[in-house]
Amino acid sequence: MANSFKIGDLDVLVVSDGTARAPGTMYFQGTTPEQWEPHKRWLDHEGNVEFPFSCFLARSGGKTVLIDTGLGQINMMGFTGGSLIRELASAGVKPEEIDTVFVTHLHIDHCGTVAHVDGDSARPAFPNATYSWTAEEQAHWTGSVMESAFMTAEQKAYLKGMFSSVEGRFEPVKDGHAIAPGINVISTPGHTPGHAGVVLSSGNERAFVLGDAISCPVQLTETEWSGLGDMDPKLARQSQEVVAREAEATGALLTAAHFPGLTFGRVLMGEGRRYWQPV
Ligand SMILES: [Zn+2]
Repeated sequence: MANSFKIGDLDVLVVSDGTARAPGTMYFQGTTPEQWEPHKRWLDHEGNVEFPFSCFLARSGGKTVLIDTGLGQINMMGFTGGSLIRELASAGVKPEEIDTVFVTHLHIDHCGTVAHVDGDSARPAFPNATYSWTAEEQAHWTGSVMESAFMTAEQKAYLKGMFSSVEGRFEPVKDGHAIAPGINVISTPGHTPGHAGVVLSSGNERAFVLGDAISCPVQLTETEWSGLGDMDPKLARQSQEVVAREAEATGALLTAAHFPGLTFGRVLMGEGRRYWQPV
């Protein structure tokens, strides 16, 4: 399944690398079923948050940019993805067509299809692409974290192969960088040290594509809830507040990698609290 959108003159295709489910009270540790009661629209009938591994293909100025690459074949907490290449093919997009792959952060469920890694051999999944993420992110994930027990051996082997496969094609980017005309990096640290999203803009229209700066739409209402995997929850909530406020004030569209429905939405205010309304 793929959904296409127009942001001014920009074409955006949202595809999913796979879908996962986790209890809302686990995804947001410390929350209770009672606290979820007013937010049941974001849960299935068993109390699970169902979340896709969304990837965004944006075309602008003759350039084709892929934002995030899903989980791929790597196991993360029992989840696997691996649909991205097939989903792109059904939409008529070949891996060779991608000019730039931008990854919001190097958690495995966002960089899982940067490379095809098999034992000691690794090759980039998008053979003609330049690969970009922030320098802070690169420094973090090539540093001591690779010695930590936090990642599985499979995940470490993948990252090692991934880094070697993109050597010579990696271009670090920072806040404001134009990946293509109207496709700009926006720094949103906290979930990881160098986390960054993308702002798509054309004419009067703008849309935020936020990676994991916000994990679930419920956080636009419950602004203190922090999802699984936030490395610096306080900073993550500050980054979230900045973009949520701006999206609300300007009417810009907003979405994130694990928001449901492979769609954009608007940040609206009701009963004194923000909420996310899919378009
Ligand atoms: Zn994620």
